[in-house]
Amino acid sequence: MKSGAIPRFALAIALVTCLVLLVQGVGWALVAALALVWGGTLWLAAARPPETPGPAPRRSLSRDMMGELIEQSQTPIIVTEKKRIAIANREARDLLGSHIVGQDVRMALRQPEAVRLLENEADGTAIVRGLARRRDIWRVARKQLGDGLAVIEFVNRTAEADISRAHTDFVANASHELRTPLAAILGYVETLRDDVEQLDPATAERFLGTIQREARRLQDLVSDLMSLSRIEAEKHDLPDELVDLTALVERAARDGAGAERAARLQLQTGGPCHVRGDSQQLEQLVRNLVDNAFKYGGEDEPVTVALDCTNGAKAVLRVQDRGDGIAAEHLPHLTRRFYRTDPGRSRASGGTGLGLAIVKHIVERHQGRLDIASTRGEGSIFEVRLPLTALEETPPAG
Ligand code: ADP
Repeated sequence: MKSGAIPRFALAIALVTCLVLLVQGVGWALVAALALVWGGTLWLAAARPPETPGPAPRRSLSRDMMGELIEQSQTPIIVTEKKRIAIANREARDLLGSHIVGQDVRMALRQPEAVRLLENEADGTAIVRGLARRRDIWRVARKQLGDGLAVIEFVNRTAEADISRAHTDFVANASHELRTPLAAILGYVETLRDDVEQLDPATAERFLGTIQREARRLQDLVSDLMSLSRIEAEKHDLPDELVDLTALVERAARDGAGAERAARLQLQTGGPCHVRGDSQQLEQLVRNLVDNAFKYGGEDEPVTVALDCTNGAKAVLRVQDRGDGIAAEHLPHLTRRFYRTDPGRSRASGGTGLGLAIVKHIVERHQGRLDIASTRGEGSIFEVRLPLTALEETPPAG
């Protein structure tokens, strides 16, 4: 009941009772006294101020409880007491070292952005670079708890920044790759139009040849960029087509070699070999590897394409050339987009710099593995392992 509200229903009962008593012949003085006491009691009850709850017993987490609470968090968290680190959970100790407990937090973090945030007694956030490793980026958030206590939380933003940098680099590289042939095409077309009278037919023919080559380069680039984005978009869908890998490898290797180089192609395929896959993508993988082996292999040397499905649960495809080989420092970067060990040679042979990036993504989508081995002066071996499928196996659901 709200304080101060007269309980009308109770008052009505009191009145009715008094009337009944009067009708029953009880003396009016007695009834009046009863009405007075009853009504007064009700009035007093209504007028009494509501009971206000006293100050809540101060509940504060003990340091141990606080430590226990944050210990299992996957985020590094520290609690400071008057700028000294009182508690650091496991993630924070892994990040900054166990020695930080008891240290001045400004000493423990050191980075100027973090120190500026911690000097202030106010809540706030700061982006801090190189906290534990040179290239890492952390968002540090500080929240004041009272009694000189503050909680500081660290959120790793390095991966996010890496992805965003990779996107920016990719767009810059792709634009550069597209602009170069476009500029060449425009330049030659302008020369042909402006000097049409003076140009002898042989020179004009040469210019047209260059225009055609550069236009093809543009076409290949756009087609590889589209393949890459399609494969990336599907990277989480497991391909479920039953593929006869032996037939596919033979077909795609011959395709990759082309009529001119077919005589140098050595095919070593065995019996039946089946995988669950995307046949178009697997053909592209074989074509890219075989084309590279011919492009970068020795001019008159053979290229071997071997498929082995007899070793356990994996099909092993090996593409081997006898070229100059690849220096060891390049090997970890070969599958990066637009990475080339010799850009001039790659461009001269019509390379887009995307072939191995496409191979890597196709292998990943098929839950396979790509290994590259190379010896300077002897050649390179690109090996792809794919999970084999028994023929009676039903396709995976979904
Ligand atoms: P590209 O279109 O330039 O051939 P790739 O992505 O297919 O692009 O290959 C990236 C780079 O890896 C090539 O530019 C080349 O420097 C190197 N490379 C690829 N395959 C071979 C190989 N079989 N032998 C030597 N170098 C190779």
